Amino acid sequence: MTATRRPIRELPDELVSQIAAGEVVERPASVVRELVDNALDAGATQVTVRLAAGGVRSILVEDDGCGIPAEQLPLALKRHATSKIANLAELESVATMGFRGEALAAIASIAEVSIASRCDGAAHAHRLDARSGELQPAARARGTSVEVRELFFATPARRKFLKTDATELAHCVDAVRRHALARPEVGFAIWHDGKLIEQWRPAAAEQRIADVLGADFIAQSRLLQAGAGPLRLTGRAGLPDAARARADQQYVYVNGRFVRDRLIAHGARSAYEDVLHGQRQPSYVLFLEIDPQRVDVNVHPTKIEVRFRDGREIHQAVRHAIEAVLAASRAPLDGSAVE
Ligand code: ADP
Ligand code: MG
Repeated sequence: MTATRRPIRELPDELVSQIAAGEVVERPASVVRELVDNALDAGATQVTVRLAAGGVRSILVEDDGCGIPAEQLPLALKRHATSKIANLAELESVATMGFRGEALAAIASIAEVSIASRCDGAAHAHRLDARSGELQPAARARGTSVEVRELFFATPARRKFLKTDATELAHCVDAVRRHALARPEVGFAIWHDGKLIEQWRPAAAEQRIADVLGADFIAQSRLLQAGAGPLRLTGRAGLPDAARARADQQYVYVNGRFVRDRLIAHGARSAYEDVLHGQRQPSYVLFLEIDPQRVDVNVHPTKIEVRFRDGREIHQAVRHAIEAVLAASRAPLDGSAVE
């Protein structure tokens, strides 16, 4: 085969962002996750998500966090620009949800984005329109609102992969639910087409799980608490009766970050080995706290995958913690087995 050789060129910045966006933004829910991550990183106590048409038409996330100074607004949209880490040492012990400085740039390359923000001490807010670069005075209290409209307007092929508005909405709500479980002290509200559809007020951790996953889950699960020092596990493990046809109630967090991890899923699944049959899927909410030095969160742009230094130990810890809960729930009801 003969190919005419074309010269090597550096891709334009916009195209680089559009390529990167493919990894970060799969659907409206990915945008919701990134924007809520940012709100939480900014120290928000209340996060409001407003969606139109399942988030496909528009997504607005408002927070009362620290805000972005007007002169830094253009930087927030620039690729690899972040306020969260400054060097490699900070990357290795990162405690914020974000650190790659990619999300806003990626989203702005495939949607219409505007950011309104106000910091403490500022006379008023400013709004930046990503496309035109126009920066104007705006009105809002301290905090940030990011609006994302017409997702995938420039990439119609991608747009075709979107499901119905109802399905996209369900994914958006699940994205907020994941954050809400991990951050009970923060209030969350979700509006869809002008209607309030979910609201979780600040609460204690146990109450938040009840608010988000419902009274049935609480009734059919038991508190889980294991480990000490460098590896701690808390949360709730569903009893066998709480098993479901789909694995849609398995929430795993590592140092507050929602993750999907095969190792943890396997550890959990093996704890249920003797009590769950066929394809029945266990339900659980697991919060792992480990030394940040022992987990690498910089594995994938979405940060939903992590890598552990001591995978076996984590697997065992998860398995044993859930086994202990299940064993206690089977013990004769002499009072000692009930939480
Ligand atoms: P990252 O979160 O990895 O830093 P992003 O592209 O998501 O990258 O955001 C870029 C920067 O914009 C952040 O580092 C932060 O300084 C600022 N920013 C984004 N959203 C908010 C927000 N809601 N409140 C305050 N600052 C924000
Ligand atoms: Mg971010």
